[in-house]
Amino acid sequence: MQNTGTKMLESALEIITKTAKDMRLSESKTERLLLPDAIHELHFSVKMDDGKDRLFTAFRIQHNNALGPYKGGIRFHPNVNRDEVRALATLMTIKCAVAGLPYGGGKGGVIIDPKSVSESELERISKAYARAISSFIGPEIDVPAPDVNTNPKIIGWMTDEYIKMSSRTRFGISNKMLKPLQGKQVQHDSVLRATFTGKPLDMGGTLGRTEATGRGGVMILKALLNKIKSQAPNPKKQTNSNNQITNKKSLDLGASNLEFLQPSTIAVQGFGNVGYYFAKIATENGFQVKAVSDSKGGILYAGQESLDAVEVLKCKKEKGSLAGCYCSGGVCDIKKGRVISNEELLELPVDILVPAALENVINGQNMSKIKAKIIVEMANGPVTEEAYEYLTKKGVIIVPDVLANSGGVAVSYLEWYQNMKGQTWTEDKVNKRLQVMMTKAFDAIWDKSVKKKKPLKQAAFEVAIERMLSAHK
Ligand code: NAD
Repeated sequence: MQNTGTKMLESALEIITKTAKDMRLSESKTERLLLPDAIHELHFSVKMDDGKDRLFTAFRIQHNNALGPYKGGIRFHPNVNRDEVRALATLMTIKCAVAGLPYGGGKGGVIIDPKSVSESELERISKAYARAISSFIGPEIDVPAPDVNTNPKIIGWMTDEYIKMSSRTRFGISNKMLKPLQGKQVQHDSVLRATFTGKPLDMGGTLGRTEATGRGGVMILKALLNKIKSQAPNPKKQTNSNNQITNKKSLDLGASNLEFLQPSTIAVQGFGNVGYYFAKIATENGFQVKAVSDSKGGILYAGQESLDAVEVLKCKKEKGSLAGCYCSGGVCDIKKGRVISNEELLELPVDILVPAALENVINGQNMSKIKAKIIVEMANGPVTEEAYEYLTKKGVIIVPDVLANSGGVAVSYLEWYQNMKGQTWTEDKVNKRLQVMMTKAFDAIWDKSVKKKKPLKQAAFEVAIERMLSAHK
């Protein structure tokens, strides 16, 4: 049976091929976009706690660096495989280009179940991986970050190991960059640290990174609603004496019935890093989050206003799951609510649906039951191709993952930038820069979408490919 990595790769290559065809690119140019620059398959041994050596297989795939150094996370998972890492590296190229970052795309992975090893084994495995990739990463070459099952602590171990191995004239720093730094060891280390992002704060990480993906998603959603508002027909001009709308033209994206706008209701699937911050920041921005869920189920909030994400998280931590929060601590004791399944959450009659957990959750089976008018893909690949086509034809606006969740890599870029310049920014400054980057990224995709009368996803891929091709020139 085909593994999910292979399916993921096929679908990434399919949309690039389709976009390249629409753009009338030559076969060789298309092929170049599909094939990665380099596939590194690595094998290394690590001494385990029982004194025996264990062999690990890992990858670093560098897809395309037309716009700048390869950029992408490292995941630790037993199902990591070459096709999956290649698919993710390819999508990182698109995401970085969509976000307007001076980066290409890469991805790494180690085949390991991190829960099956001790903390000290995990540290040795992380450091061994850092050694294995050290000759082809660097602040101007390839900049890894955390991904599934890796975190700032693991990235901190990798950064330490990388710096330990690197002498001043070795990996990743050009002579041009070194010149002004001569004799300044601190600045030199800061630049070397830029080899990884997602570091702990005391190792050169940036404020604002933890919230960045959720925050960026809310910024993109607001940018979308502003555009819709500005294009929405003016009711004064458009009603005749019988109060009938006379010139109501549908939006270029095909969306209809979007008069809801503010305050909009939202359901968020997934209450991890991305889902939690999305829910929290959306509420702070005037949206009404009505339902959230995690792997064990969700809660539907029946109060007039938004549910309190901070309170819900506190309760989840106490009870171990969201479903356990039914009738506890302000979620429904006071305001009424009920437990719902993950399937129910996706089918709620809310304005905006935010899948922020897993891939393929909106698919052939449930697409006809989706009632939201806007879907913001905060997880990677939560809407299958089949459901995407069906819902888009129905007039649902789907904000594609490569745009919606690009706030994370955008703030990673700001971390890299601060390290390269030896600076430390306030969280406010990071958030302001993120706002500028997200609005700019959204505007370019929206304009392309309107101009070409194409859904946002196709528009995003086209903008990304155009940027890569013009950089090649
Ligand atoms: P996380 O592990 O912190 O959270 C995942 C959440 O999803 C958890 O609350 C988990 O309980 C929930 N979940 C798992 N199975 C579920 C199910 N069947 N139904 C409902 N909820 C379920 O992960 P995260 O960092 O929040 O990432 C979520 C998604 O966003 C992933 O697809 C990830 O690739 C993507 N993403 C994350 C970032 C980032 O910066 N963290 C950036 C870009 C994309």
